[in-house]
Amino acid sequence: MRSEILMGSLSLVALGFLAGCSGGGSSGSSASTAAAVGSTTSSVPPGGASATPTTIPREVGLQVDAASINVFQDPDAASPLVGQAAQGQAYVHLEQQGSWHKVQFSDVVGWCQQVGISQSALPVRRVTASSLNVRSGPGTTYRQVGQLSQDQLVVESQAQGDWREISYAGELAWVHGAYLQGSGVTPPAARPVSSAGFIQLAASGDGFYSYASAGERWGLPQLVYGIERGGSRWKQTAFPRAGVGHISLERGGAFAPHSSHRLGKNADFRPVRTSGEAAVTITQAAYSRSRTQQLIDIMKAETRARSVLFNDSGVSGVSYYSGHHNHFHLSIP
Ligand SMILES: [Zn+2]
Repeated sequence: MRSEILMGSLSLVALGFLAGCSGGGSSGSSASTAAAVGSTTSSVPPGGASATPTTIPREVGLQVDAASINVFQDPDAASPLVGQAAQGQAYVHLEQQGSWHKVQFSDVVGWCQQVGISQSALPVRRVTASSLNVRSGPGTTYRQVGQLSQDQLVVESQAQGDWREISYAGELAWVHGAYLQGSGVTPPAARPVSSAGFIQLAASGDGFYSYASAGERWGLPQLVYGIERGGSRWKQTAFPRAGVGHISLERGGAFAPHSSHRLGKNADFRPVRTSGEAAVTITQAAYSRSRTQQLIDIMKAETRARSVLFNDSGVSGVSYYSGHHNHFHLSIP
C-alpha cells in the first residue's frame, strides 16, 4: 500500500500517479503537497516522514522507474498535465526545485516529482540541427511524431545503424544520429550550391552514371534530386545503369552546342540498350525501346518533367525534335 502521505494528494490520485508508483518508496516531495492539501487521514506528523530530496545534477538522464509518472507544466501537481512518461523511458534533467525536476519532455519541457524516477547512466545528446524530425522508427519511412530544436537535449537509449532511440513525449522514438552531438554518426557532407542555385549531379550513383564532365552536370535541385530518385528506382529493374549527359554549367548561361541547358532545367539521357551502357541510337539493334520507355516514364515522374524530346515515334509521351535520335532531352518547368 501507498503511504497516506501520497493518498492526501488528490490531484495525483486522480491522474493515475499512484497506479504507476509500485515501488521506490515515498521519498521526497509529497509530504509538503499532502500537508498543503490538508489530508485528514494522515497519521504521520507533517513533514516528519519523508527524507529530504536527493539532489540530481543537471543535464543527466532521469529514468522512469515507476510504471508511469505524470509530467506537469509547473512544479505543482495542480498545474496542467503535459503528459505521462512510462517505465524505461529517460528524459534530460534541466533543473531541480526541491523534489521537483524539470525535464525536456518533447520539444516542450515539463516537471515531474522525484518519486518513481532516478538518475540514468545513458548518454545525453544535444541536437545540432535547427530542426530535427522525430520518427516512430529508425528510418525516414517511419511516421514523424514530432520535432526537436537546436540545442535541446535528449537521452540516447539505443542505436540502430545511423539512428538513435530517444524518449519523446511519453513514447520511445527515433532521430537520425548525424544531428546528435557525440552520437558518432558523421553528418552527410554539405552539398555545395553554385551561384546559379544549382547542385551537381555525381559522376555516378544508384542506377545511373554520367557521361558528362564534372562541370557539365549542374542543375536545379528539383532536377538533380529527381534524377537521383529516378536512378534509385531504375536500379530496381536490374537493367544497365541509365546514362546521364549534359545538364547545365555550374553558373548556368550559354552551353554550346545547346540552345537550351542554360537554366539547370534540362538533362540529356542515353537511350537504354539491350545490354551494356555505351551510347546507342534508335536505329541500332542494341537499342531497347521498351526499356527506354520505362526510363523516360520514371525520370519524368521523379523530376516532374514538363516535356521530353526524343525521336522514336514508338515511344509515348515524347516529342520529335531534330537531333534527338541518340539521346532524349528532359525539361522541367
Ligand atoms: Zn538536351
